[in-house]
Amino acid sequence: MMRQQIVAITGATSGIGAATARRFAAQGARLILIGRRQERLDALAAELGGSAHVVALDITDRAATLTAFASLPEACAAVSVLVNGAGLASGTNPVAKGDFSDWDRMIDTNINGLLNVTRAVLPGMIERERGHIINIGSVAGTYPSGGPIYGSSKAFVNFFSLNLRRELLGSKVRTTSIEPGRVDTEFTLVRLRGDEERAKALEADGPFLSADDVAQTIVMCSDLPEHVNVNRLEVMSVNQSTGPFSYVKM
Ligand code: NAP
Repeated sequence: MMRQQIVAITGATSGIGAATARRFAAQGARLILIGRRQERLDALAAELGGSAHVVALDITDRAATLTAFASLPEACAAVSVLVNGAGLASGTNPVAKGDFSDWDRMIDTNINGLLNVTRAVLPGMIERERGHIINIGSVAGTYPSGGPIYGSSKAFVNFFSLNLRRELLGSKVRTTSIEPGRVDTEFTLVRLRGDEERAKALEADGPFLSADDVAQTIVMCSDLPEHVNVNRLEVMSVNQSTGPFSYVKM
């Protein structure tokens, strides 16, 4: 019989994180829902039956992140799965016209935020000899495609996961990098600062993966026997592919 899971999910207010919370809740996991938007966290917790613990937190705030995890109620303090889902792209400017605040936002959230949460949760997992860190990287971290700063921040996530996996060899803690292609979420709307018309135009070639497709993939990796570690997993909708090399006439 599978042991009760305590699953902490960052990015639980939307998209992949919210869908992952629904999937884990359906199989009886105890949830810790993390994001900045309190009302969305409360609504999801109510939808899931009210037993989820809600943590309104900006993961880029290192001190607040460490405090939030150190003060979890006893019933959910022994986190067994961490889904590092919080992340974003910000802006579409080319590097030569780059907006520094966009760059800082992506690096602070996708890299430093993920590290803050991982640092808060990992010691307990190692001590309890039980745990699984599931990082949401991206195909944009392997194939140049999603904007240089966003893609490079996701290259960090993909590679950090592999390094952590190596470092944790000898412990029972698993590490998985899930690297999706395009997913239908609020991601593009956030990137375009709420410009719905531009977001719709960019989404014209869908349908892409749904948030629940990715959630199902995450839960599948978690549900494998505890000695099985999926190191990295690239997942795309069948109507997406990598492109050929491009050339221009000069
Ligand atoms: P989404 O619907 O916009 O969800 C992003 C989540 O990140 C939200 O719940 C947001 O919550 C949270 N978040 C952002 N900044 C945060 C912060 N500073 N502190 C705490 N939470 C924060 O987008 P999504 O597609 O589900 O994205 C989930 C992950 O998948 C991201 O890491 C993204 O890079 C990755 N991904 C997405 C795609 C795609 O095509 N959609 C493809 C590959 C990878 P609050 O705003 O409430 O804080």
